[in-house]
Amino acid sequence: MAPRRVRRAGPQRPRPRVRAPRARRVPAVALHQLPERRSAGHGPRQRLPGAGVSAAAPRAGGRVVELVAERSLDVVEREVPEPGPGEARVRIRAVGICGTDVHGYLGRSDRLPMTLGHDAVGIVDALGADADAEHGTADDVTPAVTVGDRVTIDPTVRCGVCGSCRAGLPQVCSGGGYLGMTATGTMADYLTVPVGNLVPVADGVSDVAATVLEPIAVALHLLDRVGAFSPPARIAHVIGGGPLGVLLGQTLGVFGWAVTVHEPQAYRRIVAASAGLSVAEPGQVTPDSAPVLIVETSATAPGVQLARTLATPGSTIGLVGRAPADFTSAEILLKELSVLGVRAGVGQYPAAIDLVARGLVTPLITVSHEFALDAASEAFAAVTDPAREVMRAVLLAEPTPERSTEGNTP
Ligand SMILES: [Zn+2]
Ligand SMILES: [Zn+2]
Repeated sequence: MAPRRVRRAGPQRPRPRVRAPRARRVPAVALHQLPERRSAGHGPRQRLPGAGVSAAAPRAGGRVVELVAERSLDVVEREVPEPGPGEARVRIRAVGICGTDVHGYLGRSDRLPMTLGHDAVGIVDALGADADAEHGTADDVTPAVTVGDRVTIDPTVRCGVCGSCRAGLPQVCSGGGYLGMTATGTMADYLTVPVGNLVPVADGVSDVAATVLEPIAVALHLLDRVGAFSPPARIAHVIGGGPLGVLLGQTLGVFGWAVTVHEPQAYRRIVAASAGLSVAEPGQVTPDSAPVLIVETSATAPGVQLARTLATPGSTIGLVGRAPADFTSAEILLKELSVLGVRAGVGQYPAAIDLVARGLVTPLITVSHEFALDAASEAFAAVTDPAREVMRAVLLAEPTPERSTEGNTP
């Protein structure tokens, strides 16, 4: 299939504009209608899906995209795996290409061959022994799934028994992994995963939209982490206007934050503006002295430098991208900065799907290109070519020429 440049129906994209951050943005819905945000803290928490499920590492089958060397992908045929106890097998329909996949593709993966991908949607097509029973214990968090359900996969695989998992911090599980990074990923026809990692996708959320849920889940986890470290005025500066920065910023906006996205590339500022966010080129905004929330999503050294510039005394910094630069301990101390690491959106996928189903967050505006799974090499070449201006690309298992990419219908 020839790659398609996706043109979405909907309102005209406004020209990028620069506005001073408003002190408070009126949320689109009453706050009591929004999902409950847990407060920050490290006490014992609700048991998360997947905890205690003793399943094997995820295994891929059918057509499998394997990263075999730097900038080199093979699509190989593998036996379709049978789900083990506590596992489900998912027939993958679509997978997003995320920044971490690109990092691996560019040679920053020390595990080769590796199957990339962690933002996926598919159909449950087999359940292993005890999968229902194992999952039933956690259905207060994630609805139970059955064969035929359309699901996304929470990419954090957790052991359920280590100190982190027992403390309610599965995102830093010492015995687990992350799909496509430290565990086999979703760029394949089939993947077996612990059944507790599956999250049903609401009918109003299209397959393509369901491949861009991670930024929203990460934003929700960030808000939990910010908790008591929230600045008095909800002013946020998001550094980086890729899909992560745009959807994270849009999610913060739903919860009442006035968000400015700082992004050097014009086409990304246009997408951020179409999400209702204020936009600025790096260096264009000079903060006053009030504390703010800064979220670094660009995973670049200039992004961290900008975060340091914007960090007024008392500010809170969320590090979401893994950048080759640091804050100094002296500036953290002297400015009394609160620096929070945010590495995943574990457990947040049901709430993320709810925000998308209600139209409060719009992941489709970030998807610019679609490719067939077989064309994974072409897709990664496009994503890493700045001239192509790819915002977000999605791999489709069964692309059909008739398939409409307009609107929000599965
Ligand atoms: Zn990702
Ligand atoms: Zn663990």
